[in-house]
Amino acid sequence: MTTDDPAGPDIEADVCVVGGGAGALFAALLSARSGQSVVLLSPKAEFEQAGAGISPLLAPPTLGLLAAEGIDDELTRAGQRVLGVDDHGSAGLLSSWRYADHPGIARPHGLTVPTGTLVQALLTRLRAEPGARVRTGESVVAVEQDDEGVLLTTARSGEADGSAPGRIRARYAVAADGRHSGLRELVGITVEESVFDRPAWLLVAPAVPGREPVLLVHHQAPRALFTIPTPGPSIALVWSPDRGEEQALEEGGPAALAGQLKSVDPELSAWLGEVDGRTSPLMRLGFTLWRASAWRAGRVLLLGESAHGLHTLGGQGLNQSLQSAASLSRAVHEALASGDAARIGAYESVRRPHVERLQDLQWNLQALGYSTAPAERGAHEDFIDVMTRLHPELVAQLAGGAAPSGS
Ligand SMILES: Cc1cc2nc3c(=O)[nH]c(=O)nc-3n(C[C@H](O)[C@H](O)[C@H](O)COP(=O)(O)OP(=O)(O)OC[C@H]3O[C@@H](n4cnc5c(N)ncnc54)[C@H](O)[C@@H]3O)c2cc1C
Repeated sequence: MTTDDPAGPDIEADVCVVGGGAGALFAALLSARSGQSVVLLSPKAEFEQAGAGISPLLAPPTLGLLAAEGIDDELTRAGQRVLGVDDHGSAGLLSSWRYADHPGIARPHGLTVPTGTLVQALLTRLRAEPGARVRTGESVVAVEQDDEGVLLTTARSGEADGSAPGRIRARYAVAADGRHSGLRELVGITVEESVFDRPAWLLVAPAVPGREPVLLVHHQAPRALFTIPTPGPSIALVWSPDRGEEQALEEGGPAALAGQLKSVDPELSAWLGEVDGRTSPLMRLGFTLWRASAWRAGRVLLLGESAHGLHTLGGQGLNQSLQSAASLSRAVHEALASGDAARIGAYESVRRPHVERLQDLQWNLQALGYSTAPAERGAHEDFIDVMTRLHPELVAQLAGGAAPSGS
């Protein structure tokens, strides 16, 4: 085990966050900064390094939450600004908007940032908090709870039966351990999955010179092309071909992709020919929505992908994890500070309906299926609100106005 904590087998904290991604780290940081003692428990020996990982789009409302914690400059330096969205259909532009045109927006741009850069920025702040401890290389193997708190039994990762167990007592535990959450399984929360029948192919290439940095969509039903500027400067390109073209992509790689894009985005198609050999390999993506049957079992709370999975369209997975972290840490703080355990219910009642509504929108989106009917709406039109502002229930909760629900 590597650890920042000089680890006795037993430690006590207000909050134990299980997971090593950005959602886990942000929840731990916010809890520590609102006065709780916090232990973050990550199964891996190391955290993702700055610059590593994919570069998801952080939307302005999420950038605002991060900036409020002083996590701003290094993200802006390492990230790529995205100014807005242009959605094209077969007959021309369907929808075009810029972040800067939305009054009161937290930032006039989104930012694509490597997940490792965000993880390191959060980790540095967390380690600087006197009330926070970070333990790595350790996983939860058993959970017990009562009305007062949770007892987590841990073991070195991969050695569930071999190493001397550690014990962490916490008033609340947070399962931020991803899609296949072990902690969620230990508390018996089930997950329902809905699989999209349509895959897409992802390629990262050098940026096309002279293009405005916007999220650009060409939807010539049923084919759909999404490109987004990423650091480098580069672009991440997600292509949903027609059914009959899928095999050719699997066999032909980036060259086959360039061929298929000729009639959809000729400039990009020609550019891929020029930068041949300087792109990533072509990667097939499958898409699944998943939802946990509850976001809480007693004093164990689910956060991020342990609670929900979203499609990449609308760029919301990480944004929603981070926004949930703000809601969760506020609910934990209020439950502990007031001594009223019912206040923890605000987290699930504020966040779950919002995220499930986004999932419903994605499930019914034409751009994600094989329909050949010409697109009448831009693929992102239903997502403009969520890409530009926090939802009102979260704003009210963070301002101190959310009603508790459940106990
Ligand atoms: C191609 C692609 C593009 C995307 N684009 C966007 C985008 O533009 N915008 C956006 O917002 N999102 C995007 N996403 C989604 C986003 O990356 C994820 O939703 C987000 O990273 C999930 O964060 P998380 O903290 O919930 O989970 P994760 O990042 O999966 O973190 C889970 C953590 O738990 C740890 N863990 C695993 N098992 C255990 C265990 N047993 N015990 C303890 N810890 C454990 C893991 O090591 C990991 O650190 C994209 C995803 C993909 C694949």
